[in-house]
Amino acid sequence: MAQLSDDCFAFGGPMMSVDEAVGLITTRVNAIADLETVRLVNADGRVLARDVAAPLPLPPFTNSAVDGYAVRNADLPDAAEQALPLDGRIQAGGLAQAPIKPGHTARIFTGAPMPPGAETVFMQEDVGIDDSGKIVLPPGLKPGANVRPAGEDIPEGQIALRAGQRLLPQHVALAAAFGLVRLDVVRRIRVAVFSTGDELASPGEPRAASQLFDSNRFMLIAMLRRLGCEVSDLGIFRDERTSLANGLKQVAGRHDLILTTGGVSTGEEDHVKAAVESIGSLVLWRMAIKPGRPVAMGIIDGTPLIGLPGNPVASFVTFVHVVRPTVLALAGGLPEPLTPIPVRAAFAYKKKAGRREYVRVSLRRAQDGGLEAIKFPREGAGLLSSLVETDGLVELRESITGVEPGHSVGFLSYADLL
Ligand code: AMP
Ligand code: MG
Repeated sequence: MAQLSDDCFAFGGPMMSVDEAVGLITTRVNAIADLETVRLVNADGRVLARDVAAPLPLPPFTNSAVDGYAVRNADLPDAAEQALPLDGRIQAGGLAQAPIKPGHTARIFTGAPMPPGAETVFMQEDVGIDDSGKIVLPPGLKPGANVRPAGEDIPEGQIALRAGQRLLPQHVALAAAFGLVRLDVVRRIRVAVFSTGDELASPGEPRAASQLFDSNRFMLIAMLRRLGCEVSDLGIFRDERTSLANGLKQVAGRHDLILTTGGVSTGEEDHVKAAVESIGSLVLWRMAIKPGRPVAMGIIDGTPLIGLPGNPVASFVTFVHVVRPTVLALAGGLPEPLTPIPVRAAFAYKKKAGRREYVRVSLRRAQDGGLEAIKFPREGAGLLSSLVETDGLVELRESITGVEPGHSVGFLSYADLL
């Protein structure tokens, strides 16, 4: 399990910027060192534990990129077309029996190894066949055209996959192209998740008139699973300090991270703070981010705890900026900075300087083909519909004081955040 010092999350300033928060997390959270070996079919989404050097060049042998006719460069027609007799036929998976004879051409198919001596391939669409069955080659083809040299993709020995890479399907494909059967990955990060609040009922249980169903826990569990975590669902803790403290004590040490939602403001009924302080240490990070509120960061028996706000949208946004980098840091993953893409704002918005704000938007294709961001009409941090009915978040950085229609703004798709 991760062993962090009690003051690991201490921060000097009154307000923490998003970049400071991510910086603190990435420098202070220790990566767990436990590895496991997984078969390639199970490697998607896992964090690679060791660099992978190419055990063979890709492609492994020089081959034709097209269906056509292979020739020696010395036989390429100069100015006029040239008819050459056929010498051999090589299919994908086959091998030429002998080097190509000077003054001849060989029938070859995509992916077939080049016959020794042949250096260039004419596409079959570009040649003709004369009455004697010779292949008529046009002039002007570049030497080496339509050939894929061995190692042009990746030379043998090159580091092709880096330790810390969160594996996507294309990384798995590369490992397969090397003929690897298994990969060493970091074991899954174990996260205990619970919600807090007397007003919460679990779906499937009776709901009192003053209660609402707990939605955050299901959102957070889904988000954690997408990050490759193994999640323990601890249900709902009531707003009561002692039972909260006892529950926390039990899960610390058996997980790499404890994630809670709700109860981290400074009201009398926000008991997470007091409960954590009674058995560990806790600081409230006042982050300069909207939506969001204080995020609680703590340590119980060396296990980090993150307390997210209860409002669903605040919980979602702070997850992206605090939990995601923490999970990646615990897994020793390479940083995955978010890259907003420019779109045109179709809305006006006023904003305070010095704070990062996220606006929920839908994308629309404008008449001129450009992408426009339409702001969700309401702003409450409790509106789940605002996350469901939009495509992503417009990121308004600290220096921005407002947006006018037509301004270029940075858009983060939900698909990139999850
Ligand atoms: P809190 O952060 O506990 O003060 O909660 C802020 C708001 O979020 C309140 O309106 C809560 O009812 C709501 N809330 C808290 N936890 C959840 C949850 N797990 N699911 C949905 N809403 C919640
Ligand atoms: Mg509460």
